[in-house]
Amino acid sequence: MDIEFAGAAREVTGSCHIVRFNGKTVLLDFGMFQGRRSETRAKNAALPLEVREIDAVVLSHAHIDHAGRLPLLSAKGYANPIYCTAATRDLSAVMLADSAHIQEKDAEFLARRNKEAVLPLYGMRDATRAVDRMVGLPYDTTFDVVPGMRATFTDAGHILGSASITLDCTEGGTRKRVVFSGDIGRNGLPIIRDPKPPAGDADVVLLESTYGNRDHPPVAGARDQLARVVSETAARGGRVLVPAFSVGRTQELVYDLHILAREGKIPEIPIYIDSPLAIDATTVFAMHPEIFDQTEDLVQKVQDLFKFPLVRYTREATESKALNAQHGPMVIIAASGMAEAGRILHHLAHGASDPRNTILIVGFQAEHTLGRRIVEQAPVLRVFGDEIPLRARVEVLAGYSAHGDRHELQRWLDSVRDGGPRAEGRAQGSAPDIYLVHGEPEAQDAFAVQLRDAGYPSVEAPVPHRKITL
Ligand SMILES: [Zn+2]
Ligand SMILES: [Zn+2]
Repeated sequence: MDIEFAGAAREVTGSCHIVRFNGKTVLLDFGMFQGRRSETRAKNAALPLEVREIDAVVLSHAHIDHAGRLPLLSAKGYANPIYCTAATRDLSAVMLADSAHIQEKDAEFLARRNKEAVLPLYGMRDATRAVDRMVGLPYDTTFDVVPGMRATFTDAGHILGSASITLDCTEGGTRKRVVFSGDIGRNGLPIIRDPKPPAGDADVVLLESTYGNRDHPPVAGARDQLARVVSETAARGGRVLVPAFSVGRTQELVYDLHILAREGKIPEIPIYIDSPLAIDATTVFAMHPEIFDQTEDLVQKVQDLFKFPLVRYTREATESKALNAQHGPMVIIAASGMAEAGRILHHLAHGASDPRNTILIVGFQAEHTLGRRIVEQAPVLRVFGDEIPLRARVEVLAGYSAHGDRHELQRWLDSVRDGGPRAEGRAQGSAPDIYLVHGEPEAQDAFAVQLRDAGYPSVEAPVPHRKITL
């Protein structure tokens, strides 16, 4: 059996690991590389293997950096199953359709600019076909992937439907257990449940390491910080502009703003959810109350978590543009999460130079993105080819991170190591081999040192296309 790290190796995006076992080939995730357009286009178009070789895909969650290239497989004739949770399938339906739309627009733009025909990476039909291949399965229930390989999803607590994947592979009487963390969330995040580490006894753990060198403030403080930012900005007569992932982060923010509005902790200003994708994703969220965190007060008390008097959903582009002409304080939540595309761009072009406004950053901002420039308080932002001076206040609320920090990641790993029944001949707490994925080199290298110090003798951050044999 071997594993090839075909994506999210020494970087955060493009999650994909190829597991070859018993003559079969299984992909864990098939995500999009994100970042500089000039670099990612070719990277996304290049497939790491022949599509006919792939027998199955097991998908951790619906984020584009994990699921975004699945339609490319469909475009090339892939017709085998894609296993995921039911909520991931439903979220993927809206996200992949949106992604196809972006690909088509992108190709049109490039064709116009280069004055030559440019094909989109994939189109709407390919996205629909990919979703048709998705088999929605419950958490904590083991299923067959290929002969000899069984898989189990456990809640990763990262976005709705997100899962860690345990693969149990039996070949000639020996069993190997591979645990793929997917993206790991944090305890106490709104709406979704806390991460549940898979039962232990893994031989190998592929562990995400996005924040392997960071300490986050507690989730609990984030809502109060949000109230402060909204109140202060409203008092200045400004707007709060929030670049947010349409799926997950937007719903969490709406949920927290709902709580704050009920408690009278924010002024009565309009809150615009300015993203058709976020509106669709919110509908999907409402379809899956069975996996909400039932210990939360609002979940118990309120039937419709995402509707309250202050919140308005703007689907049409004309409604979005009309917000520029509107006066008075407001909150605008729009995609994309790293301010690379989407409606947030025209809000930033319009509002970044106004010192009354606040740009509120609530998620991870990868290298070479506009969001990273904002976090770094660059004096000038480049939006739609124009230079916009950054005079708005910038606030970063790390408490909303959907990824655990270095302590939370290690606690998760310790539970995997120490939990569950042991296979014969293995000592309690014997450390699995750790492969760090989904992290930038700086974070990974620091995290590797931390884990070695904590008693994990074998920790590696594999380079792209490194292959290991078990
Ligand atoms: Zn994710
Ligand atoms: Zn991710």
